[in-house]
Amino acid sequence: MIPSSNTDHPLSQKPVFSIEFFPPKSESAAQQLITAAAELQPYRPDFASITYGAGGSTRSRTLSYARRLVDEFAYQVMPHLTCVGHSRADLKEVIAEFRAAGLQRIMALRGDPPKGQSDFKPHPEGLAYANELVELIRQEYPDCLIGVAGYPEKHPEAPSMEADLANLKRKVDSGAHFITTQLFFDNQLYFDFVECCRAKGIDVPVLPGLMTIVSRDQVHRFCAMCGATIPEALDAQLLAAGDDPAAVQAVGVEWNYRQASELLASGAPGIHLYLLNRAKPAAALLEKLRADGYFHAA
Ligand SMILES: Cc1cc2nc3c(=O)[nH]c(=O)nc-3n(C[C@H](O)[C@H](O)[C@H](O)COP(=O)(O)OP(=O)(O)OC[C@H]3O[C@@H](n4cnc5c(N)ncnc54)[C@H](O)[C@@H]3O)c2cc1C
Repeated sequence: MIPSSNTDHPLSQKPVFSIEFFPPKSESAAQQLITAAAELQPYRPDFASITYGAGGSTRSRTLSYARRLVDEFAYQVMPHLTCVGHSRADLKEVIAEFRAAGLQRIMALRGDPPKGQSDFKPHPEGLAYANELVELIRQEYPDCLIGVAGYPEKHPEAPSMEADLANLKRKVDSGAHFITTQLFFDNQLYFDFVECCRAKGIDVPVLPGLMTIVSRDQVHRFCAMCGATIPEALDAQLLAAGDDPAAVQAVGVEWNYRQASELLASGAPGIHLYLLNRAKPAAALLEKLRADGYFHAA
């Protein structure tokens, strides 16, 4: 399952934690990413992933920030790659660029349709689904460690959970080594999802994705975008916290902590934190998990 040259499979030692950045557009946003990377470095995440924007819009930024995270902070970096707007030849070029930068891991995604487009239309000489990208990476770069996306609440375009799971299996059968889930706030969704994966013969680790919280508005925006549900209790607590950033953060950290504790105690392979380039809520969460004995640096 795990390529022989990848002895450092990030999920071979349980539990792991990983963090996700996005490539910033402006100087001030860049500073925010660098500050977050510096603040989280002492927690020694097992890897840091960095997203890839629609249509290759972040191609050079994803790569340059991936390099900075390696060079300045010694993170193990996993850049994302999406099929949107790219021909097969473009994708091969990007994969070669990652490889030339010494990056050994790729999160392989189809990507969302660009803004203003409702349906995903593959590039005429490109790939239609993430499983094809997994195959391409395996061809070009057999020792690459490959992650793919999974959806505890079903991918919004999938006609049924059944169909979505069959497609997820295709990605794993094409050579993906692990699955990172879309964000969720109710652990039962993850437990049910993993059970369905196992029943379908999907046997790779399923890393649960948790989003750290900075505002109620952010939670609503992201959940609307990706089709995740917000538990009523969480929404009520965020509403009660109002515009007080410290109170909102406290609600978020406590919610994430309860989620992470239960997931880890139930044998999840770790946690993946969607940070939105902000370190403080993640650091507060990691402090609490460390106090419980998780994620101490070796
Ligand atoms: C962990 C994670 C990281 C992400 N990172 C990024 C990022 O960096 N950049 C970005 O733009 N977006 C990112 N996304 C969002 C993602 O690109 C979208 O959810 C996108 O709509 C689907 O991508 P996918 O790789 O899951 O696609 P796919 O696995 O290709 O699935 C897309 C849809 O097609 C169906 N399907 C899949 N394969 C087949 C097939 N062979 N035949 C028929 N139907 C099929 C699936 O059921 C699903 O409904 C991320 C999501 C997650 C969970």
